[in-house]
Amino acid sequence: MDEVTTTNENKNIVDQSLQSEDQDSPDGSIVSPYFEDKEKVVIVNGLYVVYNTGKLNEAIALDGINFDIRSEEYITIFGPSGCGKSTVLNIIAGLEIPSSGNVTVIDQDLASLSSDEIAYFHRNSVGMIFQQYNLIPTLSVLDNVILPLVFEKRNVRERKKLGKEMLRRLGLGDFEKRFPQELSGGQQQRVGIARALITDPPIILADEAVGNLDSQSAKNVLEILDDLNLKSKKTIISVTHNPEHLFYADRVFYMRDGKLVKVEINKEKEREDAPQITKERTEFDILLQSFPDLSPMHLHVMLAPFKAKMLVAYFLSRFESEEIKHLEEIVKNRLLNALDGEQLFSELTKSTEIGGVGMTAPMAKKLMAVIDDVMDRSVMIKDQNESLKQGRNKPMEKLIDRLRHSLLEEFEGELRIDEVKALNRGIEYRLLSKINREEFMEYLDRPFSDGGVGLNRKTAKKLSRKMELIMLMEYGQ
Ligand code: ADP
Ligand code: MG
Repeated sequence: MDEVTTTNENKNIVDQSLQSEDQDSPDGSIVSPYFEDKEKVVIVNGLYVVYNTGKLNEAIALDGINFDIRSEEYITIFGPSGCGKSTVLNIIAGLEIPSSGNVTVIDQDLASLSSDEIAYFHRNSVGMIFQQYNLIPTLSVLDNVILPLVFEKRNVRERKKLGKEMLRRLGLGDFEKRFPQELSGGQQQRVGIARALITDPPIILADEAVGNLDSQSAKNVLEILDDLNLKSKKTIISVTHNPEHLFYADRVFYMRDGKLVKVEINKEKEREDAPQITKERTEFDILLQSFPDLSPMHLHVMLAPFKAKMLVAYFLSRFESEEIKHLEEIVKNRLLNALDGEQLFSELTKSTEIGGVGMTAPMAKKLMAVIDDVMDRSVMIKDQNESLKQGRNKPMEKLIDRLRHSLLEEFEGELRIDEVKALNRGIEYRLLSKINREEFMEYLDRPFSDGGVGLNRKTAKKLSRKMELIMLMEYGQ
């Protein structure tokens, strides 16, 4: 989980935005232990792509990219439109020639191949899947699928037999005689996958393969890719700008402005034959047993919209509903780390006419401070819970102090020392789930002389709301 949403990144959002520009490029060759002994099937070194060199419209599409990909890895390249994702895929596929740099795919230095050799390589070593499916409308589904075999020595009957088998594998046995436009988007993409697989290439390249599909078809196609990776042992290199698709990957390559800016290993990706690392069972793992199909990463992604909603609802009530929806989307992307602090600020302050939410800079900073504060505290709770699970007796005082400070931002008055102590006790009880939300609120509200903290009802409500928000944020991280 922490691999995709690195928890300490949620701290100091503003500071991070200041640093993010001059980060060193990440090491794109570190893999999880499972892949350490596997062969490097793609090696990219010092890759530059410049369009229109020397002209006024000169554009650097790739700006010094380095990474290795191991056999059977599932890599997802993630980044905003125009950052160079497709260019990377096209170069690995042998469709584009870099301005400089070395690219080796399955032991072949692509720059050293003749054009015939490149064509052979492209047909047999990589299968490509595109957002627009790229099917030929005048050919039947079956003929589309067997098109890449046209250069092979096999006779037509053999090719058709292979094509039919492939269509059956993808659940399209009944559609071979149809034409692409008679099929739904999801079905057309499965035809695209069948075509990519027909030469049995070891590497599959998928460029926004589900970008045009509704969420159900997208899930179906993503699961096919996952199966191809886990069962058929294909190396998958996929491209997306949707953070909700990241949990299929073994590693995520984050790109921005033609650069690789971050590489994350997804430890949640399960591999049946991987050595089992026994890990501590957290409260969260136990909760997960009620949802056997969900990984914590799934859950985090699922919960992100809800968390975003709670955060935004907490922060403001004066916005129009459209703007609130948009704001939730922006905050969700921040929670999923699809936006860094700087990008978050720019989204928040962009005017509504160009798709922003038109916040003033001070208001955006205030919201960012709230997110920062709540996330930071939730990370502390998580750390506390983890050390508790490991049987370490980590003192809770510091966590409680920090939480109290966060909560008291909602409080105008001053607390006496004995009231502070009472509040601390309440926070501790709530953290340990000895009391629930209502009991916590009631405790805050109850007069000090009756064993409570003695806050007024409105303040008690505000404080307990923030406490619940912080505790919610900790889930699924
Ligand atoms: P992505 O797939 O991440 O959206 P691309 O790899 O398609 O990005 O493009 C990267 C950058 O290179 C973009 O700024 C794009 O405008 C530019 N680019 C891509 N192809 C060409 C081309 N043929 N001529 C000029 N610029 C191009
Ligand atoms: Mg693209």
